[in-house]
Amino acid sequence: MKGKRIAIIGAGPGGIAASIALSQAGFDVKVFEKSIEITPLGGAIILNATGIVILRKWGVDVNDIFAAREPQFRRYDGKIRVKFELDKSLLDKAGVTGWQSGMMRAELYERLLKVVPEGMIQTGYTYINHQETENGVKVNFADGKSYEADLLIGADGINSEVRQQLWGYSEPKHLGIAVWLGWCELEGADRTNIIIQHNQKYQFGFAPLIYKGKNCYEWWFVEKCTETQEKPKNVMGYIKERVGHFADPSAKILDHTDPSHQLFRWVVKYRDPLKKWSKGRATIMGDAAHPTSPYAAYGAGMSIEDAFFLAKFLKGKDLSDNASLQEGLQKYETERLEFTNKTTVFARTLGKIYHGLPKPLAYLRDLFLDNSSKPGKEIAKGYTEEAQSVLKGILEE
Ligand SMILES: Cc1cc2nc3c(=O)[nH]c(=O)nc-3n(C[C@H](O)[C@H](O)[C@H](O)COP(=O)(O)OP(=O)(O)OC[C@H]3O[C@@H](n4cnc5c(N)ncnc54)[C@H](O)[C@@H]3O)c2cc1C
Repeated sequence: MKGKRIAIIGAGPGGIAASIALSQAGFDVKVFEKSIEITPLGGAIILNATGIVILRKWGVDVNDIFAAREPQFRRYDGKIRVKFELDKSLLDKAGVTGWQSGMMRAELYERLLKVVPEGMIQTGYTYINHQETENGVKVNFADGKSYEADLLIGADGINSEVRQQLWGYSEPKHLGIAVWLGWCELEGADRTNIIIQHNQKYQFGFAPLIYKGKNCYEWWFVEKCTETQEKPKNVMGYIKERVGHFADPSAKILDHTDPSHQLFRWVVKYRDPLKKWSKGRATIMGDAAHPTSPYAAYGAGMSIEDAFFLAKFLKGKDLSDNASLQEGLQKYETERLEFTNKTTVFARTLGKIYHGLPKPLAYLRDLFLDNSSKPGKEIAKGYTEEAQSVLKGILEE
């Protein structure tokens, strides 16, 4: 189907979401994934209401997913520091009980893959490079295989080769933090909100989630770390020593976690934001375009939104018509680039403020957080305010 052929590189949340959105918009989509099996990273993620609304529009079953109401930033002993102002009528319109909720990554993949048309994802294809031809764009893979499309979308993550070919090499930078992600089954504890607690050095947060019909929590522990810092031998002992005294149910959550298969650790990297994503017959999305610190809990959510807007602005177009394709890609960038860049900078800055300040400044930060509403307002702006306007726009369509 010349004029409708789209090749997507990478079957992470972004690439899978784009395959659903663009095939539903009438395109002839192929996804090329380098792994032999499509496997999510371990543990859980948080999705916000916008992600849920988009998934529902695509026919993904998410009705039993939402478990929490609102995020709260708290001091380690439970004192609330930032309570987010949420537009309740917006959430009602979205059909959700709150702004964010936890979800196991494996379950997100399973449910997304159920609505991907059969045969659309090809595994074992490693993108090497691409060239523009008279007929479109030729995508070359390892082992000498190739595919011709009208549009190439790089959804190949933070180390994107598509981004590199389009915009040159850039060094991934160390963000200065390590994130531990765990999950556990736990009944009985308060499941109303997503709680993000800090003491002077560490963050311990948790979100209720439902997994296979059971009440669970996902949790995360964030600490300052060097790029080469090794994982400690006794991981639970290490974490409990640092945050085991945080307010209830922190200790219970840690006690119910089995580190052999319910705990994962990342040393987080970032890249400087780009000023442009699309060039010729290729563009990028998700972490390939805007790798995001877990402090935003929004990287996968933003990749789902990218997919939604790509389909919105390309729908009905003959992609072999270059002027029409460029118009669609320009609209996609106008909608997404500034917003996602702002979000990534916000998430990075928040991580630095909480984990990168020397002790005297960290002391002043906490004094300020405990006695002024100003930092809370800034955090709320970056964390939920602008993201709520994305949701509003989508619901108004
Ligand atoms: C600790 C941690 C916690 C997080 N928590 C959250 C959260 O709570 N909420 C949230 O929304 N986000 C969260 N994120 C971010 C989220 O995981 C990412 O933003 C999301 O996975 C990005 O999706 P993606 O599809 O763009 O890229 P990826 O998930 O990186 O997928 C890229 C895919 O491309 C494939 N690929 C790579 N190179 C090639 C190639 N050359 N050829 C073919 N295929 C290729 C890879 O194998 C992979 O399957 C978190 C991240 C971390 C590290």
